[in-house]
Amino acid sequence: MSTLDTAAVEAREQVPAVDGEPCVLLKLGEVVLKGKNREQFERRLADNVRMAVRPIARVDVIRRHGVFIVRTKDATAELVDRLAERITDVMGIVWAHRAWRVGKDVESVERAALELTAGISGTFAVRSKRRDKRFPMTSTELDRHVGAKINEAYGLPVRLKNPDHTVSIEVDRDEVFVFSGGLPGQGGLPVGMSGRGLVLMSGGIDSPVAAYRMMRRGLRVDFLHFSGMPFTGPESIYKAYALVRELDKFQGGSRLFVVPFGKAQQQIKSSGADKLAVIAQRRLMLRTGEVLARRLGGAALITGDALGQVSSQTLTNLTALDDAVEMPILRPLVGMDKIEIMDQARRIRTLSISELPDEDCCTLLAPRRAETRAKIADLRQIEKRLDVADLADQLVESVQEHRPVYGDATVS
Ligand code: ATP
Ligand code: MG
Repeated sequence: MSTLDTAAVEAREQVPAVDGEPCVLLKLGEVVLKGKNREQFERRLADNVRMAVRPIARVDVIRRHGVFIVRTKDATAELVDRLAERITDVMGIVWAHRAWRVGKDVESVERAALELTAGISGTFAVRSKRRDKRFPMTSTELDRHVGAKINEAYGLPVRLKNPDHTVSIEVDRDEVFVFSGGLPGQGGLPVGMSGRGLVLMSGGIDSPVAAYRMMRRGLRVDFLHFSGMPFTGPESIYKAYALVRELDKFQGGSRLFVVPFGKAQQQIKSSGADKLAVIAQRRLMLRTGEVLARRLGGAALITGDALGQVSSQTLTNLTALDDAVEMPILRPLVGMDKIEIMDQARRIRTLSISELPDEDCCTLLAPRRAETRAKIADLRQIEKRLDVADLADQLVESVQEHRPVYGDATVS
């Protein structure tokens, strides 16, 4: 044990027990701004929080003015840590604070503040906020009072500008919350608030990030993957499965639909599509996606396209893709650089999965030179020969459904 740890333990032993309970205090983002819809937003968010932590503990989510309090029976500091950590994945949460929930008397607040600062070094500041203005001290008085107690007990210097530690005190209607630091959440809107969409999910880097960005705007998403089967191995399916399992932490209840696409690709190839084969194939993926999305009650398709990233993603080609379906195609990455997309993929922990080797179904088709200015009329000609509407229906019939669950290690 380092000297610092020993000091921390000794200091902690001298602190009188806190008269309160550990809980998680959540700060909500845009939800607060939603006026009339706020009630619905908050209810959805509270449900999503409860669902996310279900494997850890059953919790009560108490809604207060712009904050949530997450309580559980027999809460320990360790359990509250795990809850807070898990809740940072729930869309719509801006901060998760592991807090002491204490009575509305100054002594209880002091004890919690002393417990939180025991054994720390460096400068500190106390910042109080009153959501209940009837509390006998003003925020400034409370700051000074608790600051003086900490200084007296541990000799730590106060520094109001850029302190090393901040002790936050929030006076609420029935209780006071005392905490130090917190875990940043994802922000955004609660999943489910914006409807449902279907993500076209390759095993690549981009589509998982596209899915994340739409979930973060409140869309609940299903996933559709096209494998090159029977002409490729199942590796791309394993990757898609692992990616969806990771992304499931942001919404729960995710569904992955897998279509064996190899034979359809061969048909496209033998239809003489030549340089247009890649775009013709993408149009067929979108058509198939549209049929499936309608069945699932989805109202949009989502892809990982970024303008100009590869030859199939020129403006002309994206326009030719839009032409294939009636449903809107959402492309949240359209204006992003590859570097930015990779940074985000790393943060949401999908990058290392995407970088695993696989045999992407697209490589089955890749002609030597891909068309960068696909003509819609030419594509329609090819599709007429193929009877694509029928083909899309058949592909949807061949779909296999999987349910990847976050935290579940088994691959089904
Ligand atoms: P990604 O990294 O997402 O694979 P990419 O940069 O490799 O994207 P493309 O291969 O041209 O670009 O694919 C563009 C988009 O088309 C993907 O982001 C995805 O939405 C969709 N897509 C491509 N291949 C597949 C596939 N096998 N199954 C489902 N969707 C796919
Ligand atoms: Mg790809």
